[in-house]
Amino acid sequence: MDTKAKQSHIFFFPYMAPGHMIPTIAMANLFASRGIKTTIISTPQNVAFFSQTIERSKESGFKIGVLLLKFPSVEVGLPEGCECGHMVETLEELQKFLEATSLLDQQLEKLLEEHQPNCLVADNCFPWTTDLAAKFGIPRLVFHGINFISLCISQHLIKMDFSTLLKSDSEPLVIPDLPDEIKLARTQIPNFLKQETELRKFLELTAETEKRSYGVVVNSFYELEPAYADHYRKFWGIKAWHIGPTFLCNKDTYASLDEHECLKWLNSKTPNSVVYVSFGSVIKFVDAQLLEIALGLEASGQQFIWVVKKEKSEEENKEGWLPEGFEKRVEGRGLVIRGWAPQVPILEHQAVGGFVTHCGWNSVIEAVSAGVPMATWPAFSDQFYNEKLVTQILGIGIGVGVQKWERFGGEKVGKRNIENVVTQIMVGERAEEMRSRAKRLGEMAGKSVQEGGSSYKDLNALIQELGLHSTASN
Ligand code: UDP
Repeated sequence: MDTKAKQSHIFFFPYMAPGHMIPTIAMANLFASRGIKTTIISTPQNVAFFSQTIERSKESGFKIGVLLLKFPSVEVGLPEGCECGHMVETLEELQKFLEATSLLDQQLEKLLEEHQPNCLVADNCFPWTTDLAAKFGIPRLVFHGINFISLCISQHLIKMDFSTLLKSDSEPLVIPDLPDEIKLARTQIPNFLKQETELRKFLELTAETEKRSYGVVVNSFYELEPAYADHYRKFWGIKAWHIGPTFLCNKDTYASLDEHECLKWLNSKTPNSVVYVSFGSVIKFVDAQLLEIALGLEASGQQFIWVVKKEKSEEENKEGWLPEGFEKRVEGRGLVIRGWAPQVPILEHQAVGGFVTHCGWNSVIEAVSAGVPMATWPAFSDQFYNEKLVTQILGIGIGVGVQKWERFGGEKVGKRNIENVVTQIMVGERAEEMRSRAKRLGEMAGKSVQEGGSSYKDLNALIQELGLHSTASN
């Protein structure tokens, strides 16, 4: 490296939703830990979500900062303050939300002009950033927040003609040219993809700019999905770097969560005796579904932590989502957390032996890294593809059998089904086999980000290829 070179600077621009911001902030920290200056571009409402993490990173001596953009919610017809993806309730609102993000271009251009970073890592949802970066002569790297298998399936799906996508719903769709035979029910593919819609056009644009961008950074590790990491690079000819699991490089971030009441509760439990149930930051099940989950968990006889995205209120019994006397009956055996739970420390706790998940990629890679088998309950986005990886390819999970793509978890899963899958991932020979496979993968995940590991080396390769300079070289 040139010893006189100025410290390099990267802009990170995540989509405004926890599932995108969490891994992007972790990635910015990862680059900062290698002596590169990093800046996160966000909006006032969203910054509150990660400001503590940034403060802690600064205290560790990292050069990491935040720059803010004004989010034009009202301009596109969204309510004032609607700046985060999880506030969006319908596909129409989602479209408006995406429109608002595209109106951020001039503000971002100003920041690029002013700060002259060496590289822009921007979310897949911001296709316009490829041309903007080109204007400044800097590379734009794409970050999707998804893994290689999902990148492969998405590229193949968007290339399929409508007649293939629209064939009878009873006939599964085989995704062509993949290393394994991956079959999806046609109902697991969103309707907006099966006709000429604005959302489909948007996805076509993101797939096209993905190819024109400098490359893609992936929050995964090679040993987890080697055939798909190779397929994506070779078949589509897109440069990609696997640098995950990024959260493993940011363990300090979780230190302050150790005091959480549920972790103390877990300390009193024996290894692998508690199932953790959580569906990410976006899905909000209707009360009737929550009731089925409560009844299924109770009938399973397993100990559990269940995260529900509802605030505790005086009125909650009137809502009818908890069976009468539920919390009293399961006292000591089950814990209901309302709102936000410290998911990573929970999954890593030795008492946790299974995870009922919607298969958001962050949740899956956190569970894999913790060596925890899963009951898979996908709803939308890349979640059905992640389910295939977990159940069919890695053999560390059992599906609850959801067949229909529905952004907010539409298909009802009954209490008997829930009781069965929870029992199957927690006890018995199959559960033990899945757990030991998951533990092996967890060890590989840990090694991949350590010096000499596959993700560590790929990050080095990326830094070298981009010609980035650290503080150490100043
Ligand atoms: N998460 C958390 N506590 C919660 C809910 C979610 O810490 O109560 C974190 C979880 O650990 C993961 C992210 O939020 O890092 C959710 O991302 P994922 O991709 O799993 O799902 P999404 O929210 O995007 O659907």
